[in-house]
Amino acid sequence: MRITDIKPYPVWIGSRNQLIVKVETDEGIYGLGESGLSGRELAVIGALKHFREFLIGQDPMQRGRIWQELYRSQYFEGGRVLLAAQSAIDIALYDIAGKALGVPVYQLLGGKQRDTIPCFATASGGTGEQMLASIELLWEHDWRVVRTMPLSPRDLGPNVFDPRASIGYTAEWLTKARERFGSELTLGIDYHHRLSIAETASFCQRMPQGTLDFIEEPIRDETPEAYAALRQMTTIPFAVGEEFASKWQFMPYIERHLTDFARVDICNVGGFTEAMKVAGWAEAHYIDLMPHNPLGPICTAATIHLAAAVPNFAWLEVRVTQSENLYYGQSGVSDVEALFPTQPMLDGTVFPVPDTPGLGIDFDEQRAQEHTWRFWEAPHWRRSDGSVTNW
Ligand SMILES: [Mg+2]
Repeated sequence: MRITDIKPYPVWIGSRNQLIVKVETDEGIYGLGESGLSGRELAVIGALKHFREFLIGQDPMQRGRIWQELYRSQYFEGGRVLLAAQSAIDIALYDIAGKALGVPVYQLLGGKQRDTIPCFATASGGTGEQMLASIELLWEHDWRVVRTMPLSPRDLGPNVFDPRASIGYTAEWLTKARERFGSELTLGIDYHHRLSIAETASFCQRMPQGTLDFIEEPIRDETPEAYAALRQMTTIPFAVGEEFASKWQFMPYIERHLTDFARVDICNVGGFTEAMKVAGWAEAHYIDLMPHNPLGPICTAATIHLAAAVPNFAWLEVRVTQSENLYYGQSGVSDVEALFPTQPMLDGTVFPVPDTPGLGIDFDEQRAQEHTWRFWEAPHWRRSDGSVTNW
């Protein structure tokens, strides 16, 4: 079997773009992958064009060797753009291998360690009352692992975030959430890299011990030393790593135990080939995976197979729940169902593990023509004084 083409499909779905990648072969078997660098799809497509030139004619079953060639074929290895392209190709090659051998992808990863994949939901809400109502809604639908988002006591205007206004208020309402829902709720928060070390320490110290089960990326992650400093100032477990491209970015966080949950993103880290290495490394340090999964159904399907195959797994992020619908955006139009006629569907709060060959997903290329890619920028946020902060 030989690779005959690499086709990128940047498609606008709901309120954002997804970058789907199809790898075709001379035996008619094809594989699907997805790239995770949301907002910079054109850069990833450029990388895919470079890779296509030397991938055509290669044996798609040689996934490990192709991974090495993709990573090391340029003098300037690595980085988020190249790994995002590489991730999509690697995922598609696993889809091809599964279909060629007639087995689900998890069989290529060592078999299935669990029958269903437990997930966590994200509560919505900009105020404390809205957050509690959202957790209540999720609780009524049997969600017991819920992640929250930073709150603000007042409307500061569009795309404005004030850390000092947020941290005390958010800590107060998380404390109320713990009191209201008790010990059965696993409760986390994602601060989206918006705080400093001092702000994070104050935030954590304003809640009674045991309020939070994890805090996700309160500070930026370029510097592991910053997390090492923060580790001395709070006992709340950390969840870090959704932006990491390659095992080498995970290395200090795992080896120095600067994260307690590995937020691996299979569409950014380097596909199955790299995610399995991160998983093994994390297993050796008793760190569970809590995969990042904010993209489309291909990312979800790939992450389900990864989650099925590893022993050290906590929960999979899912963004289509009673509290939000990231696939469809505000439109409510079920474009995703039309574009992906076969895709993983939640059963309550878990995903069943599919047993069909490959990833168990399909994509309608004809309909994709109707979903033209659009320029989209992640919101550019400011603090109250006008300075730049993270979205
Ligand atoms: Mg996050």
